[in-house]
Amino acid sequence: MAPGYQKSKEMFEQAQMVIPGGVNSPVRAFKSVGMTPPFIARANGSRLWDADGNEYIDYVCSWGPLILGHRHPAVMHAIQRCLERGTTYGAPTDLELTLAQMVVEALPSVEMVRMVNSGTEATMSALRLARAYTNRSKIVKFEGCYHGHHDSLLIKAGSGALTHGVPTSPGVPENIAGNTINARYNDLELLEKIFAEAGSEIAAVIVEPLAGNMGVVPPAEGFLQGLRNLCNKYGALLIFDEVITGFRLSYGGAQSYYNVMPDLTCLGKIIGGGLPVGAYGGRREIMQMVSPAGPVYQAGTLSGNPLAMTAGIATLEQLQQPGVYEELNRKSALLAQGLSQAARAAGVPASFNRVESLQTCFFTGHPVNDFASASTSDTKRYAAFFRSMLEQGIYLAPSQFEAIFVSTAHTDSDIERTVEAAYHAYKAAAQ
Ligand code: PLP
Repeated sequence: MAPGYQKSKEMFEQAQMVIPGGVNSPVRAFKSVGMTPPFIARANGSRLWDADGNEYIDYVCSWGPLILGHRHPAVMHAIQRCLERGTTYGAPTDLELTLAQMVVEALPSVEMVRMVNSGTEATMSALRLARAYTNRSKIVKFEGCYHGHHDSLLIKAGSGALTHGVPTSPGVPENIAGNTINARYNDLELLEKIFAEAGSEIAAVIVEPLAGNMGVVPPAEGFLQGLRNLCNKYGALLIFDEVITGFRLSYGGAQSYYNVMPDLTCLGKIIGGGLPVGAYGGRREIMQMVSPAGPVYQAGTLSGNPLAMTAGIATLEQLQQPGVYEELNRKSALLAQGLSQAARAAGVPASFNRVESLQTCFFTGHPVNDFASASTSDTKRYAAFFRSMLEQGIYLAPSQFEAIFVSTAHTDSDIERTVEAAYHAYKAAAQ
């Protein structure tokens, strides 16, 4: 297939006149792979079609929410029924209650949950709550973990291991950045030093229990338990950002998968079934501090909106069916195996990380276990690989440092086709 992109190109030109960079979220612009993005016209199952009629097997799945693929019949049907009752009331509904009960039942550490509209809102609100609960200001985050775009978390490491963070974006005030301490993923020794120095000021440690935003990087044996122990020792809260991993690694999220319990959990993506959503929850005693039960203010016009709740409930109902995760993970393993064989056959140095239905092929000869090792990837090679895959009808994330999301809608023959295409793409990347 030699797809044309004429219509997409024209729309991108026009979009750049009225939307900054032509997109509503930066990675969609395809800058790091040296292309302009196809504009998507429709989707179904494992497939996307763009405005020029090109068809793709989709491994972005809207960046994680679509664990059932596009337009799952049960989800579509539920949304249609919900539409007949209206779209939003700004008042409590049975749907919010049902989804909250499902989340509380699924996640062992969550006794109460508050719905918001995005993952960013979830982490922002969780930090406010942790600061209020502990009466402390500082937050520890890990380099390479992404928790949304609010001020406290758009922070990179300052120079020197124990220095406080510096903003990664103009517009983030220095004094806010100064309250965020950057640690290294999978490095407990450094975190111990940080706590020894500033433990009495640290309100919370926030972490992606399985990192997905520097590509997939699993926690080393004992890392999450080490975080739990240090937080206990110094009276800080442990926040798991399960926006990607929640209902993905298992129905009980990463906390069940790794058997380490956080104090607070942030959710998003899958619990909205493809509609805008976020949530934060945790121990009752902490969550009771949220307004109006307690003094910590947080609100939202469309929070818990009926459509997102409905899509979330329908998605979780599907995930409760026996064998769903086993089948999803089997297909993901098949893909990982095929990709690594194809990379070897094409002679490209590649390092594969996979945990269940999340995986990344890093274009590096080194094992990847933190941000520094992820950064050894050859992003030019990734760009060549990506472009060849797209030309062959395989839609991957337009950046090396993202996950491949496998959905229940991917078939074995989709995976076979993907692996065949990958061999040619790895060859293109090898040049
Ligand atoms: N946390 C994690 C782990 C994420 O991957 C993301 C987004 O990709 C967010 C938070 C922010 O979520 P949102 O984009 O819904 O604001």
